[in-house]
Amino acid sequence: MHELGICDALLKMVRNIAKEEELTEISRVTVEVGSLSGVVPKYLSDCWVAVTDGTELQDVEFAVEELQGTAQCMDCDEVFPADADRLRCPNCGGAKLMPLTGRELTLKEILVP
Ligand SMILES: [Zn+2]
Repeated sequence: MHELGICDALLKMVRNIAKEEELTEISRVTVEVGSLSGVVPKYLSDCWVAVTDGTELQDVEFAVEELQGTAQCMDCDEVFPADADRLRCPNCGGAKLMPLTGRELTLKEILVP
């Protein structure tokens, strides 16, 4: 699964940062997921639980914030909010779209108690 690989990478990232910043305890990890990233927040949370199970990070709260992505229609130049499951121009119904924002997946915050 796509999300599993992402969580593996996130786990490594969190560990690296914890090491560099000498954090001994982490209470929450927040990630930002764009609506056009192809990542399902629910799956991401499930995978986080799976990859951290039995590790020092298993009790860390995992928060996913969704960012509304935008796309531009190549036919009529309309810019509109877009989700991965709703990829049609609301103006002309065209399907030739260019994503402008919303493809990001970033580690936003590591909260310490
Ligand atoms: Zn259009």
